[in-house]
Amino acid sequence: MGNAPKSSLSGLPRVDRVAEHPALAAFRQRLGPRAVTELARRAVDEAREAVRGGAACPSLDDVARAAARFAEAALSARVVPVINATGVVLHTNLGRAPLPQRAVEALAATAGRYASIEIDVSTGRRGARAAFAERTLAGLAGAEAALVVNNNAAATLLALAAIAAGKRVVVSRGELIEIGGGFRVPEVCARSGATLVEVGTTNRTRLDDYARALDAEGAAAVLRVHQGNFKQVGFVERPRLADLAALCREKGAWLIEDLGGGALVDLSPYGLPGEPTVQSSVAAGCDLVCFSTDKVLGGPQGGVIVGRAELVERARRDPLARAVRMGRLPLVALEATLGCYLDGALGEIPTLAALERPLDEVRARAELWQAALAAQGIPAHVVEIAAAVGGGALAETELASVAVAIDREDAEALAARLRTGEPRVFGRIHGGLLLLDGRTVLPGEDEALIEAVILSAK
Ligand SMILES: *Cc1c(COP(=O)(O)O)cnc(C)c1O
Repeated sequence: MGNAPKSSLSGLPRVDRVAEHPALAAFRQRLGPRAVTELARRAVDEAREAVRGGAACPSLDDVARAAARFAEAALSARVVPVINATGVVLHTNLGRAPLPQRAVEALAATAGRYASIEIDVSTGRRGARAAFAERTLAGLAGAEAALVVNNNAAATLLALAAIAAGKRVVVSRGELIEIGGGFRVPEVCARSGATLVEVGTTNRTRLDDYARALDAEGAAAVLRVHQGNFKQVGFVERPRLADLAALCREKGAWLIEDLGGGALVDLSPYGLPGEPTVQSSVAAGCDLVCFSTDKVLGGPQGGVIVGRAELVERARRDPLARAVRMGRLPLVALEATLGCYLDGALGEIPTLAALERPLDEVRARAELWQAALAAQGIPAHVVEIAAAVGGGALAETELASVAVAIDREDAEALAARLRTGEPRVFGRIHGGLLLLDGRTVLPGEDEALIEAVILSAK
């Protein structure tokens, strides 16, 4: 015990008195009495440490206020809607793709009811799960079969486990990458039970490198990884996918691609050339292609394996498949999102709409925001900047965008107030100013955004 006199420690409020304090009344309802008592205990513990360190003994009100701050922090960890003014279209920390309206409606209609998730309606017996989504995905990709799982990390892990567990898998050293959130190719390989055989160098891997490894090591598969979230420039080389596929066929190895993004339409008309489509990977001769459904596809969190029927079936029968299956709510949302592709209603997909929005429209929007803020005495100016696709897609592509920059020195404090306000708004700091990007804010959010900025700028 430190130098605090015993008397000041005994002056600390009791936990139950703190928990009953009026400052915590609202939180007792929102968090439950047990959680509030826990937070009160934490606040008393903290006060005790401070007193032991020589601080004056805090009052009951002080300790209750500290507990209320803990409660506020606990509540702010809940998932709530936010406005994405960051300029990153697929922001992994903000939930990646917002769903198309028809997916939202399908969820609303299904979530609170029983649903024909895994039943054969003609016989009433157990049926295939995700059969519609899988047939549609296989059709759109030009593949024989598809399997839907929880995310692309799971798809890649499962593909490797089903095909290469206990065997060797060849990967270029330029593709031993980390995607973020703990997805590292060498570790995923190890977890799948496959033994990694590295070929080539960081910047250059040639077809010969693969050929030598396949001859010498007798590998079951080659894994090709899309370098979506970083770019290599300069003295770099890797074989064309079709050439690698031809080599794999000749050597009797399967070619698995981790495509990351999973574009089902050509994104070059969206001003985004260079992002491969799932169709192009299948057509190039990949035996299995793994991709996300919440990146440029624009749907809910999910992962897909498409490719050769025989291999997709092997993945489906693997015990891991059950552990990583897609939940029923994402499945409902995925089917509705795929409906947009079947109907050619791509404009209904918010991610594609954000990527496609003409620069003039983005600028006009930023100018409206600037005028609305000026009318409230908040000085701001319009700036041309680069937005980003995000979600590990198209690192090489900068998306032209326009933002409003708030002309205030306290950008960090302003950004923090916006993040914690109601609604929560996420901007980005650039050149010491807070920027609100006109490309990523969803249609219909303008008024709420402006109100939030006015409130937080006061
Ligand atoms: C995003 C990405 C992943 C992980 O996908 P999740 O759906 O987030 O699990 C894996 N590989 C690549 C190349 C990616 O871009």
